[in-house]
Parts: sequence; C-alpha cells; structure tokens
Amino acid sequence: MKNKQHYLITGGAGFIGSHLAEALLARGDEVTIIDNLSTGRFDNIQHLVDRPGFHFVIDTITHEMVMDRLVSECDAIFHLAAAVGVQLIIENPVHVIETNVLGTHAVLKAAARYRKLVLLASTSEIYGKSVQVPFRENDDRVLGPTTKARWSYSDSKAVDEFLALAYHHQLDLPVIICRFFNTVGPRQTGQYGMVVPRFVQQALRGEPITVYGDGEQSRCFCNVADVVRALLLLVECKSAIGEVFNVGNTQETTILNLARQIVAQVKAIPVEQTDAYITLIPYSEAYAPGFEDMQRRVPDASKLKHFTGWEPQILLDETLRQVIAYYRTNSSIAAESAKV
Ligand code: UDP
Repeated sequence: MKNKQHYLITGGAGFIGSHLAEALLARGDEVTIIDNLSTGRFDNIQHLVDRPGFHFVIDTITHEMVMDRLVSECDAIFHLAAAVGVQLIIENPVHVIETNVLGTHAVLKAAARYRKLVLLASTSEIYGKSVQVPFRENDDRVLGPTTKARWSYSDSKAVDEFLALAYHHQLDLPVIICRFFNTVGPRQTGQYGMVVPRFVQQALRGEPITVYGDGEQSRCFCNVADVVRALLLLVECKSAIGEVFNVGNTQETTILNLARQIVAQVKAIPVEQTDAYITLIPYSEAYAPGFEDMQRRVPDASKLKHFTGWEPQILLDETLRQVIAYYRTNSSIAAESAKV
C-alpha cells in the first residue's frame, strides 16, 4: 500500500484546489491548504473542515514565515494559487501580474529550502493566439503587444514556468508543470468570465445566453475530476520531474454549440429549438476595446498519456449535467455571481 503523504495545496479553496483536496483526503492523504480567499471560497471547503487530516490556513502565499512552516511540514506542493479569468486580467492587471509572479516566486523559494516537489499549475493561455492547433508543449508562443493587458496573464504564467524550470535546472528542485486547458465542473463560478457557469446560470435564470462573436470559436472542456486524476498521476510520476504537460480534453465544441447543449438540458427541449434563447453579442460590446479572443484552443494531450496513461473519461454532456445540478442546488452562489 502507498505511504500516506502530506500535500500542501496553495489556492486550495478554489475550484480545482477544492476538488483536489477532496480526492487526496478520500485516499487517506493529509492535506493542508493555504488560500487568501480572494477568488477561492470558504464554501468550497466547508464540508472538509472536520475531516481527519485536513488543515487550512487563510493567508497569502507571499507571507514568508507562514509558507516556510507549511512547506517544511509537507511532502509535496500543488501550487494552484493564481489570479485567473479573462475579466480579471482586463480589469485588474496589476493584481494579476503581481499575484502570479510574486506568488510563484515565494512558493519556489520556500520549496527550494526544503527541496520539496512543486507541481505548478499553468495554463493554455501560454500558447497565446497561436493557430497551430493542437498545441504541443514545445510549440512556439504567439502573443500580442504589452499594451494589451490580455497578454499579461500569459506572460505572468510564462515567467512562473521559466522560474520553476530554472529552479529545477540550477538548484535541482523537483518541479512538474501542468498547463490546464478549459477546466469545468461544479464549484466553478462565472464571476471571472468563465463561459460554462455563466451560460448555465443564465439558462437557469431564464435569461438569454450571451454568446460572444458568432459563436464559431471553439474550446475543449475537461471535467475537473479528470484534471484531478491527472494531477494525482503526475505527482507520483518520477519521470515527469522537470517536464511540462498539457492537461485537457481533446473533444472540441463551438461556443454556440455549447450554448445550445446547455439550453437543451436546462429547458429539457431538443437542441434544434434552443436558438430562440441565445443572443449573439458583438465582441466590441462584450470586452474592452482591442480584446482578442482565441478562435480555437485544443491540447495535444499525448505526452501526458505517454507518461502516465491518463485519458479523460467524462464527456461534456455529463459535465454539463453536473454543473447544472450544482447550480440548481446552490442558488445562493448563482445569485452572488449574477451581481457581477
Ligand atoms: N464566452 C461567451 N460568452 C460569455 C463568456 C465567454 O461567448 O458569457 C466565450 C469567450 O469569448 C470565449 C469562450 O466563451 O470564446 C471561452 O471563454 P472563457 O473565458 O471561459 O475561456 P477562455 O477564453 O480563457 O478559453
């Protein structure tokens, strides 16, 4: 039997972190999370509070003394704390850049002191507006100018990746980098622009579904349970150390098709009858001037499969069912997101 491990999850009260904490506890590991509750929610972890082996600290990861202690006490770190979401990047780039760069620096510095494995959560935004889909880990990045705040997120996470790899090569720190593609599931909020919770909440409130542009842009949505499974496999995969992995589903869907599927499920009507509930919003009204949307975002997930055997198991239809059920039973969260 596997030895019990103690994992530190930064950003553990967030959407992905809370699911990861749950999965680790379920298999008998000890979990400490640190979260400043800026985008994470206490509600996400409330049900874990009385579980044996669960500890939480409400603080920022740049608090050096706290991080030093937490890192010294754990076996490995999942570094998920970050500022995410397109809306946040446009509205508050100072916060995004500082949180991502300074936060990761603080985590790596503490990890290096005790030589603890860091699994760094990165993003498909790294690839920028490249049109060479599917994206492979060593592909070139294609970005816009620094005068467009949108790209600051991509570059802030790229600095995180550079720094993590530099700590690995120069200081022998074990690191693994995961680039998450669009991850969806229960507990994700629509407050920061994410499309699935937004559409689900609009449909449940009986509002028109706001599809930006012509809706022909596409994404690959991966269920958070599949993403968590990938993290559990990677953290135990010795050959993954020093490597970068795409973590995502390759099932591609257009945003218009996504809207149709959500309306069909919520209203229990055939997909052909859903268009009356969907409104196309021009990009100029949806985002600040100069915003560029990505037309396609598709991962090549073959490296992850090669190293760990991972393949996604949950289809989009089932993921949407889970998200709809979540918002049906958590209407207070839906109401809070609606204020934004
Ligand atoms: N989107 C949309 N309506 C919304 C929110 C998002 O049509 O209310 C679109 C957005 O323009 C993008 C896609 O959905 O093409 C995915 O957006 P999200 O912010 O979830 O992820 P990302 O763009 O970072 O992949």
